[in-house]
Amino acid sequence: MMKYLIGLTGGIGSGKTTVAKFIEAKGFAVYYSDIRAKEIVNDNSILKSEIINLLGDEAYDEEGSYNRKWVADKIFNDDTLLMKLNTLIHPAVKEDFEHWMNIQQSKFIFKETALLFELNLDKNCYKSVLVTADESIRIARVMERDHKTYSQVKDIIQKQMSEEEKAKRANYIIYNNGDLESLSMQTNVMLESLFKDL
Ligand code: ATP
Repeated sequence: MMKYLIGLTGGIGSGKTTVAKFIEAKGFAVYYSDIRAKEIVNDNSILKSEIINLLGDEAYDEEGSYNRKWVADKIFNDDTLLMKLNTLIHPAVKEDFEHWMNIQQSKFIFKETALLFELNLDKNCYKSVLVTADESIRIARVMERDHKTYSQVKDIIQKQMSEEEKAKRANYIIYNNGDLESLSMQTNVMLESLFKDL
């Protein structure tokens, strides 16, 4: 059976995970790259030792769990180190994704990732979907969700690819300035046109 992979992306706080949950609730398989990446740094022992080699023993606590806060602080202003860390994590996620994809039975499968275009993952996708919202709305939602300050969220946004650039590359765009009902309806419209385009 031919499988169609659809990439689902958006900047921080855009609502891509919320859209992914709507899609999953309709019975489609969704791979959550960011969530899996967080699990893999703990579960993949080869990756774990590579991270320790790169960053030091403090990257994991006494129980052997990834010390996310410590790592984030260490790399935040060191782009070279961040790049090196990503060079370790991204191939491990890719391998995990490929394994997952091979065992899926459904025709349409979705991959949710913040870095679809940044990592050129869209080249392996049948179609790409961008979830976007006005920056002020995204900032407010993330401040509430993560208890971050305005400037912390703004800093993260400034490090991400611009919405304009992403919009140029996406096949479908979902605008998430409204309520969850509007988001859910737009998700359904997107799914319907996806099937129609086939
Ligand atoms: P991140 O990249 O940070 O993981 P994301 O793109 O996956 O973000 P979500 O986690 O889906 O974004 O949404 C961000 C926050 O905003 C969540 O707390 C979510 O519940 C909330 N949210 C998303 N869309 C709406 C909406 N239309 N109305 C109200 N709240 C929303």
